[in-house]
Amino acid sequence: MASFALHGLAVSPGIAIGHAHLVSHATLEVAHYTLREREVPREIERFEEALASVRADLAALRAEAGAPGSPTELAALVNVHAMFLEDPLLAEAPKTLIRERRCNAEWALVQQMNELVAQFEDIDDSYLRERKHDIVQVVERILRALMGKPRKFGRKAGEKEERELIVVAHDLSPADTIQFKNLKIAGFVTDLGGATSHTAIVARSLAIPAVVGLHHARPLIREDDLIIIDGTRGVLIVAPDERVLEEYRLRRRELELERSKLKRLITARATTLDDVDVTLMANIELPQDIEQVKKVGADGVGLFRTEFLFMNRDTLPSEDEQYEAYRQVARAMGGKPVTIRTLDIGADKTAGALGAYRQAPNPALGLRAIRYCLAEPQLFLAQLRAILRASHFGKVQILVPMLAHAHEIEQTLGMIELAKHELRERRCKFDEAIAVGGMIEIPASALALGPFLKHLQFLSIGTNDLIQYTLAIDRTDESVAHLYDPLHPAVLRLIAHVIQTAQKAEMPVAVCGELAGDPAMTRLLLGMGLRQFSMHPAQLLAVKQQIVMADTEQLSAKVTRLLRMEEPERIREQVERL
Ligand code: PEP
Ligand code: MG
Repeated sequence: MASFALHGLAVSPGIAIGHAHLVSHATLEVAHYTLREREVPREIERFEEALASVRADLAALRAEAGAPGSPTELAALVNVHAMFLEDPLLAEAPKTLIRERRCNAEWALVQQMNELVAQFEDIDDSYLRERKHDIVQVVERILRALMGKPRKFGRKAGEKEERELIVVAHDLSPADTIQFKNLKIAGFVTDLGGATSHTAIVARSLAIPAVVGLHHARPLIREDDLIIIDGTRGVLIVAPDERVLEEYRLRRRELELERSKLKRLITARATTLDDVDVTLMANIELPQDIEQVKKVGADGVGLFRTEFLFMNRDTLPSEDEQYEAYRQVARAMGGKPVTIRTLDIGADKTAGALGAYRQAPNPALGLRAIRYCLAEPQLFLAQLRAILRASHFGKVQILVPMLAHAHEIEQTLGMIELAKHELRERRCKFDEAIAVGGMIEIPASALALGPFLKHLQFLSIGTNDLIQYTLAIDRTDESVAHLYDPLHPAVLRLIAHVIQTAQKAEMPVAVCGELAGDPAMTRLLLGMGLRQFSMHPAQLLAVKQQIVMADTEQLSAKVTRLLRMEEPERIREQVERL
């Protein structure tokens, strides 16, 4: 096979060399094979067993949907799925196909799904037409049951496998990517995706090289092809020759060496040359990430993205299950701050158990994060009680995402009070003085900080969304990724304004978006006055290295001048020179 290279977005640095493992959504590609006559009855039985197992899952979900704390939409969603499951086109017709054409159950089912979806596409009523997504979801459930296991990638950590695996996919959701945490994967590449999509963020947290936005890589790569990912330069090389392989092996060794040199900074204080102390915190997605947080000596957890606890499952995590997860982190951090962000579901972060928001016309502008939580008070209260209970075991603080309106802040604080009241009634212990902070990630909140300063105890700037909403660029869309510019003067001025306003008001302020973990931005943020950074643990030592070599007084003067500039090229040049 001839070697070729493709260019995409570099989202997680490093070099990976391994064999391609093609991954696709269950319904996009199922095997098609012919059965022998005598295999037909067993295949029909296999299909019926899969239906029965999905029926049982839906019955369990229905029971769960009635429980307090479940979103009201869940019950409706389960009923719709149960109805489609019994539709003769899905439940009966595949059996006829298996019998008559002697094809496997998966293939028969997908043929019937296509027919049913086509019927729905012809419906004029847009609400009914959209139900085709439910049909696909039901079929995916049956396909998973047919495969005998839920959708999983790769090999479990610890399983014997000498070859490195590189996942190649058209697209991966954050829910897909988070599963890599328990699997041994050397890297991944996708056709779609933007640099600050949550898929890319999870890749960085796994510290595995990744390139996204490759457009048409997947159809060009075959299972098992030898590939190289250069996650620093955004390059994918397929079927490299021995000379190229040797070159990349050498580069990989050099990078590993650089990384291991950084380890000497683990115990060093993050203090600048002019003696300014900087706090370096970690972003986590799951309690298991704490191990890495402790290894790099972080000052605490600045962002716990709790929505990942809600993904890849059919039911919601109960209050007790959440409490266990939050308590585990609080305890492990032994008195260091643990900032638990309330559920930020929506946009590219979806969770099957939460249902209908996925069909919103524009999910990034829809019922996301705190908007969703305030619309689902029982679910929100369950999470708040879980966080509060965990606060008895460490220095926990609550961070609220996507706030923009004063009334949202007031309503949220009202809910926290209610959760506290319920716990007092239950005689549960919690930290009465728990700090509550707000994410600044919508331009409106950055420009109108008054209610934040008045009602909250700390701020955390979410640069990923702040850039997305300021520039009107979908952070997950590779076709506009070249316009997603953290150094746009409007973005820089908003960030600097928030930092400086908060400091004047003596309110602690951090940056927890991806900008905080980019060593090329550390000096810029220091010059704006930032003293608290939160990032993936894998980036923390590289950022610390920048800090110990910086002089904040000098940086502050240079950044003040830079903030007045309009020319993108000049700004870029100055940031590089800082
Ligand atoms: C952000 O928007 O910068 C942020 C930290 O939150 P998330 O990436 O989870 O949206
Ligand atoms: Mg955000």
